Amino acid sequence: MGIVVQKFGGTSVKNTERLFNVARIVTETYAKGNDVAVVVSAQGDTTDELIEKAKEIGDHPSPREMDALMATGEQMSAALLAMAIGQLGYPVKSLTGWQAGFETDSTYGNSRIRRVNVERIEHEFGKHNIVVVTGFQGINRYDDITTLGRGGSDTSAVALAAALKADRCQIFTDVDGVYTADPRLVKKAQKLDAITYDEMLELASLGAQVLHNRSVEMAKKYSVNLEVLSSLEKKPGTQIKEVVKVEKMLIRGVARDNDVVRISIVGIADQPGIAYQVFSLLASKKINVDIILQSIGRDGTKDISFTVSRGNMEQAMELTEELKESLGAQRVVCDDQVSKVSVVGAGMVANPGVAAKVFGALADANINIQMIATSEIKISVIIALQDSEKAMNAIHDAFFD
Ligand code: ADP
Ligand code: ASP
Ligand code: MG
Repeated sequence: MGIVVQKFGGTSVKNTERLFNVARIVTETYAKGNDVAVVVSAQGDTTDELIEKAKEIGDHPSPREMDALMATGEQMSAALLAMAIGQLGYPVKSLTGWQAGFETDSTYGNSRIRRVNVERIEHEFGKHNIVVVTGFQGINRYDDITTLGRGGSDTSAVALAAALKADRCQIFTDVDGVYTADPRLVKKAQKLDAITYDEMLELASLGAQVLHNRSVEMAKKYSVNLEVLSSLEKKPGTQIKEVVKVEKMLIRGVARDNDVVRISIVGIADQPGIAYQVFSLLASKKINVDIILQSIGRDGTKDISFTVSRGNMEQAMELTEELKESLGAQRVVCDDQVSKVSVVGAGMVANPGVAAKVFGALADANINIQMIATSEIKISVIIALQDSEKAMNAIHDAFFD
């Protein structure tokens, strides 16, 4: 007996049959004497379809109205799931993000949860109701609807689990756990019984969309007992926790992120203050720069390359073009046909040779590395987009085969 938060993603609630499947999982947990709060995503591709509808109206919809629109997907699935649970004969109420007390900052489209006021949910628990909450949304201080960024329902679930001091937060999805790589891209990917918060955070931030990265950040901060498991097969999933026995595993997983473009400023004067000029300008426009590479000066000039997300490409190009003259640069070039492939593992810290193994695997596969970035527990490379699946498999084979 306890408090359980269960989250179901888009594929898990995509049609009536799946809604009843979810209703059975939820009511089984409830029938064991638990208070159950369910967090749902929009059905199937609903969010993508809503975005398409907005594009039909115009190219630059108001961010406020965009959030008002996108939040409807989750409202639909929450109400439908509550109906299905009701059909099975259980007491249930659906709540929107606002009714459930999700307060966020005021950024539309990518807002952060500030607080979850769980009074209403606790009141419903007091009346022995199962509660179904819309994921992905909240309200800001102007009482306007906000959304948490794509994949954000995971974060709704973890935030709710933390606020309710839940015993468990279960993320039900269309795979049966976290794998050593996306099982849809790497056939030999292996399921992990457990992974640390830090490793999962890196994997999620580096493109493994199985969990929204902020959900992992939050789970670590509030020590939420988090599990990823299948909504279709009844079997144990992957536990995400503070410490996991490292065993002999040097790396825990391989991830890919295609939401990346590389911008290079070529032939800049080799003098102090150049990098500062470029990156302070980008920062002032809130453009997040990921990997940075500066060449050693030769013949009085040098090159600076950096990566940004696709959504920031146009603005980053405009800003660097503006600077071109004052930097004395020859040209600014952009490559949007790139991908970032990364390996993650806490075992890397104590074991030399991981980087060499990654580079060796890429060399054997005849894949050229454009940029490299490392931290204590990860190595990322920027490569050509067309090579990304091959690279993931080559690196995965090198460590796990
Ligand atoms: P949901 O709709 O349930 O939120 P998502 O599509 O957001 O589901 O996330 C699940 C998907 O994440 C899987 O179908 C899988 O293709 C992908 N994925 C990427 N990396 C991994 C990984 N390392 N382990 C498991 N799944 C992964
Ligand atoms: N429905 C939202 C999306 O597609 C949120 C989520 O599924 O987590 O991004
Ligand atoms: Mg998701």
